[in-house]
Amino acid sequence: MQNRKPIICVIGSFVVDLMSKSPHLPKPGQTVMGGPFHMGAGGKGSNQAIAAAKLGAEVGIVAALGRDEFGDMAYNALVEAGVGTAGVKRVEGVSTGIALIIVDDGSGENMIVVAPGSNDFLNKDDVKQAKERIAEADYVVMQLEIPLETVEYAARLAQEANTPVILDPAPGRPLPDELLANVDVLTPNEDEAQIITGIEIADLASAEQAAKHLLARGPRAVVITLGGLGALAVTKDETVHIPAFAVDAVDTTGAGDAFNGALAVALGEKLPLAEACRFAAAAAALSVTKVGTSIAAPCRSDVEKFLKQVRK
Ligand code: ADP
Repeated sequence: MQNRKPIICVIGSFVVDLMSKSPHLPKPGQTVMGGPFHMGAGGKGSNQAIAAAKLGAEVGIVAALGRDEFGDMAYNALVEAGVGTAGVKRVEGVSTGIALIIVDDGSGENMIVVAPGSNDFLNKDDVKQAKERIAEADYVVMQLEIPLETVEYAARLAQEANTPVILDPAPGRPLPDELLANVDVLTPNEDEAQIITGIEIADLASAEQAAKHLLARGPRAVVITLGGLGALAVTKDETVHIPAFAVDAVDTTGAGDAFNGALAVALGEKLPLAEACRFAAAAAALSVTKVGTSIAAPCRSDVEKFLKQVRK
């Protein structure tokens, strides 16, 4: 591994998670008395930035927040985690992104409404202003909770600056070839890979087929995450299955975010892809042993301790 900290530039969303458990999911028109209320920092961009910062990278985020209490909360959460906020803008007259989450206390099933709010206002100009940060970064990390044209523009800028891009194509949607051509590592989960390719993923063989389909559209590598089945990393030279580490899973929300944040750090430290995925899988496994998203992402020493233990 190299000595200096890897520099990661995340361009993405922030959302406040507002969550309550309910004895059952409400029917249309119904009001249900729920359990305790939880509020936390969420949104894939912020989660991945915080996950990478906890693992020791120098991380900055380009994001749009409202000028409201939730925006202040977001700002503080990022600062507390050591994420650089020079690229954060505040948008007047619009609310910070919110996710309303109801979890069925029995089955664990959930219902989520995301009000993207300020995230919809992250535009090309904001990315342009971060041009230098993009150029000096080891990796740019993006997801799809901000406008697609902003993601496309940022990928183009990064490509011009020779900074590789990791794109987590979540939430899943069909993607244009021009975008995929500017992506270095594409990291869909199985549902997203299915949405983009139309290939039904039922096992490792079909995951490999979907990955090869995606690879042909431009990225240097495709890593399909498969929940408890681990991840499949595919390049034109090799296909490697990285099994998930066996842990007592308590809450798997945010597993993908911990995985992506850690993957960026490990690739930024110049680990080969398969080894970087193993590091990411370890960080993701530790994150599912705790409730929450960014709050459940592990610190560097915990991941290293965990990897030493499983090697024994
Ligand atoms: P997403 O959260 O985007 O749906 P996944 O569910 O595929 O992503 O999880 C991302 C990664 O997290 C997986 O590739 C795996 O390494 C790890 N992971 C997910 N669920 C578990 C689990 N139950 N036990 C251990 N590791 C897990």
